[in-house]
Amino acid sequence: MSGTAITFNTGSSSLKIGVFKVEAGFARPLARGTVMIGKGTRFKYTSGTDVHEVDLPHVKEIGPALLAELLPLILPKGSEPTLVGHRIIHGGLKFTAPVLLDSDTEACINQLVPLAPLHLPCALEVVRAVRAMYPDVLQTASFDTAFHTSQCALATRLAIPREMHDAGIRRYGFHGLSYKFVSQKLKKFAPDLGSGRVVCAHLGNGASLCGMVDGVSKDTSMGFSCLDGVPMATRPGSIDAGVLIHLLRNGFHDADRLEHFLYHGCGLLGVSGVSGDVRVLMENFHPAAREALDLFCFRIAGEIGRLAVSLGGIDAIVFTAGIGENQPEVRKGVARHLAWMGLELSESANKANATVISGRDSTITAFIIPTDEEQAIVDETLAVVNRHKL
Ligand code: ADP
Repeated sequence: MSGTAITFNTGSSSLKIGVFKVEAGFARPLARGTVMIGKGTRFKYTSGTDVHEVDLPHVKEIGPALLAELLPLILPKGSEPTLVGHRIIHGGLKFTAPVLLDSDTEACINQLVPLAPLHLPCALEVVRAVRAMYPDVLQTASFDTAFHTSQCALATRLAIPREMHDAGIRRYGFHGLSYKFVSQKLKKFAPDLGSGRVVCAHLGNGASLCGMVDGVSKDTSMGFSCLDGVPMATRPGSIDAGVLIHLLRNGFHDADRLEHFLYHGCGLLGVSGVSGDVRVLMENFHPAAREALDLFCFRIAGEIGRLAVSLGGIDAIVFTAGIGENQPEVRKGVARHLAWMGLELSESANKANATVISGRDSTITAFIIPTDEEQAIVDETLAVVNRHKL
């Protein structure tokens, strides 16, 4: 199989696109882009070393009109995709591996919409838009939940009646493509540690942690939805269910308003009242900005403690995604709470965003490994194509 592959990583208000050259069974990145859908839709993309920004003022939603504008900009001139891979946030109990998208698999994903009502309809819209533009192109789905189907049984349980668990109200976990990519990189870079007990902290606008043994997920901080776990840019992370009942009775009234608040009005933004962006908070001297960052670090460290119980100890910690890869102060703030566990960072390696950031006396080795969800998607696309001998 050779040609051009595209990956789509569809959020509720953003779309990340990767363009890859496929040759001899490998996919090499050619271009990347992110489009934020909002009042002023804007497409930012890099092709080689060139960075471009384009305003798309008349595009208001993710759909065929958006793709018709974006793809000619980011695809190599005159080329059409031969393969398209999609990140699908929820695979429920049905999807434990990537699949070819056909009418059957698409119908099954459609049935999962109640589990991820903000994300799945947008992703399916992109699948349909691609089909309308390129009716014969092969499309695949990569599921964020699939990596966590190996979790231990206790980690999947909420303390609710058994029949609800059996009906699918259980802990699934997300960011699976990122964890798969990072764990494979760690195994290549440090095979002994990579096959040991590893906690990976994916700290981006969405944030979660995963405890793995031998590169396999055993427990993770996100659960039924991507609201669970540690605080995020605008989501609260785990929150006492009593608060939600109180809010529904006092001012929120319906699930849609509460949902919008929980996805967009909480987390770092809610606590600081300033921003959900760590870079902005780092430069802000308001005490509430400091408190938001302190809470973020405290809760991440707490989650690492919980995962240490799940794994029976920790050999290595890996930081990844925008904050994990680029914010020494956050890593330092997390490590400060974990000194009792034997984690100690090297001041200089941490400041330099080096690959190994733990100090010589640390009993836990700490790494920074950049994630690449787009590469993870396209690698799975190629694996599906191979599996089906297409
Ligand atoms: P997303 O989860 O939407 O993919 P990112 O992984 O880029 O987003 O994470 C966004 C967060 O990472 C923001 O809080 C931002 O401040 C931080 N971040 C991203 N890139 C950098 C950077 N180069 N330097 C410092 N902080 C960064």
